[in-house]
Amino acid sequence: MKSSPEVIEAAEAADGQVLPPATLGGDSKRSVEQIALLLFIVVPFVALVAAVPLAWGRGASWLDLGLLVAMYFIGCHGITIGFHRYFTHGSFKAKRPLRIALAVAGSLAVEGPVVRWVADHRKHHRFSDAEGDPHSPWRFGETLPALLKGLWWAHIAWMFDEERTPQQKYAPDLIRDPAIRGISRHFLSFTILSLAIPPLVGGLVTMSWWGAATAFFWGSLVRVALLHHVTWSINSICHAVGKRPFKSRDKSGNVWWLAVLSCGESWHNLHHADPTSARHGVMRGQIDSSARLIRWFELLGWASDVRWPDAARIESRRSPARADAA
Ligand SMILES: [Zn+2]
Ligand SMILES: [Zn+2]
Repeated sequence: MKSSPEVIEAAEAADGQVLPPATLGGDSKRSVEQIALLLFIVVPFVALVAAVPLAWGRGASWLDLGLLVAMYFIGCHGITIGFHRYFTHGSFKAKRPLRIALAVAGSLAVEGPVVRWVADHRKHHRFSDAEGDPHSPWRFGETLPALLKGLWWAHIAWMFDEERTPQQKYAPDLIRDPAIRGISRHFLSFTILSLAIPPLVGGLVTMSWWGAATAFFWGSLVRVALLHHVTWSINSICHAVGKRPFKSRDKSGNVWWLAVLSCGESWHNLHHADPTSARHGVMRGQIDSSARLIRWFELLGWASDVRWPDAARIESRRSPARADAA
């Protein structure tokens, strides 16, 4: 089954056009952004693991938790609605201010520059779980040790591999847009902004350094670590387990317990069966906050041409095998 979205074909047609790179390190994985990314992955995670029990005793204030939740869902929806459904798959059209806002919100998630994120993800769909997929958990084989190694690979290790996704080939549409190219190149600035907002708010509201420090811990470090691991779980967990009611040529699954935290992205089997659909949780009761927000953007007139899946389209993508085969 051919499931590469049309966006990829359109992008390749424009190949050969020479534009400045959209990331400071170009296509290279050994770039300043990657080193920074490694730092911003390891430090928040160490904070999360080592300091949560310590901080728990002192208690997080409502302000800290509020900052954590607000910043978490801004970044999460920036990734799911912006980087993923809009920039990667073109599942709706956005007015210019919304387009810019989505690129900025996604950049606040500290998951790498938008152009690289989109290029890697388009490549993931083109080769899903086959050779060429940047992050398949099945890369090393299907035995248990191979799968465990593969899960680690799909979760984190792939980001630091020498393998490159050519951005000119996979994301020329974004490189051609000067505003998006600029946001992509300023990934480090957005990272600093993302980490600075919580302590700034926490410090100003409590008028204390301690308030700034706890807000930084919860709203910046813990929030970034949590969002990182939830996002990467889509690449690892949702390609290893979960229900597969829809036809896809890969091992993508629907994982219900990640639905709320992943802003609706864990209905990943439907996504691979119908990549341009603006809604991933298409079945009754499947929570998909990203789809809900896209609907509100549509009602406000900010989004148009939304690819909502109708009943016939969903039916046509059902797997002929047992509907709940895992
Ligand atoms: Zn996938
Ligand atoms: Zn996708």
